[in-house]
Amino acid sequence: MLNIDLRKIYNFYPLEPAPATGNLPTGGDIYYECLDCTAIVSSVPRIKSACVCGNLQGADGALNIARPERVRVVRGKLK
Ligand SMILES: [Zn+2]
Repeated sequence: MLNIDLRKIYNFYPLEPAPATGNLPTGGDIYYECLDCTAIVSSVPRIKSACVCGNLQGADGALNIARPERVRVVRGKLK
């Protein structure tokens, strides 16, 4: 698994208004911040990705979210 600190590459801005928990958007510039371990994972991970606590796990463009109420949706912009 590749564990890059995306905050070194991107600035992240929370989506306003925050999307509903049951209807989280996805996209190339959309990322999810895990509120339990603070990791940031792409909403459409091309490589195998996961946060430290296991809330967010994905690969091949699909992400599984164990606790969607513990996710903040953010937009990533390259620094
Ligand atoms: Zn986590």
